[in-house]
Amino acid sequence: MQVSRRIVLHFPASLTGQPIVYRLARDYGLEFNIIKASVSPEEEGLMVLEVRGDEQGVEAGMKYLSEKGVMIEPFSQRVVLREERCIHCGLCVGLCPVGAFRMEPDTYYIRFEEERCLACGLCIKACPPRAMEVGL
Ligand code: SF4
Ligand code: SF4
Repeated sequence: MQVSRRIVLHFPASLTGQPIVYRLARDYGLEFNIIKASVSPEEEGLMVLEVRGDEQGVEAGMKYLSEKGVMIEPFSQRVVLREERCIHCGLCVGLCPVGAFRMEPDTYYIRFEEERCLACGLCIKACPPRAMEVGL
């Protein structure tokens, strides 16, 4: 049976220079489409990927990624800021791998630029008052 999955891959710094995703096609016969990526050498990398192939191939490919040390999470379509909960602590600014938060220089308020967001979920876990959440 053919299946398709959207996933978020977290690469540790030690793996960001390696052709790991390419092997999904070569060794497991999977097709993949990179939806968004933030990968730079010597830093942690993030990639949102759509993977298609037969069910066994997809399972084997995911097992291969896990064994290589890549963390896999399901892709949340959208992450939103519940502004009424935000206390503008700034914690998310340094944490977001794609710079989707910025601090207004005059007010020190934190603004969320959703169009930059990879939906990796890091800020959801870290935000103290739970102002970031998966949107509908
Ligand atoms: S971590 Fe949460 S509360 Fe703090 S600025 Fe970011 S969204 Fe607002
Ligand atoms: S989910 Fe949060 S940390 Fe991840 S890219 Fe989007 S705004 Fe940045």
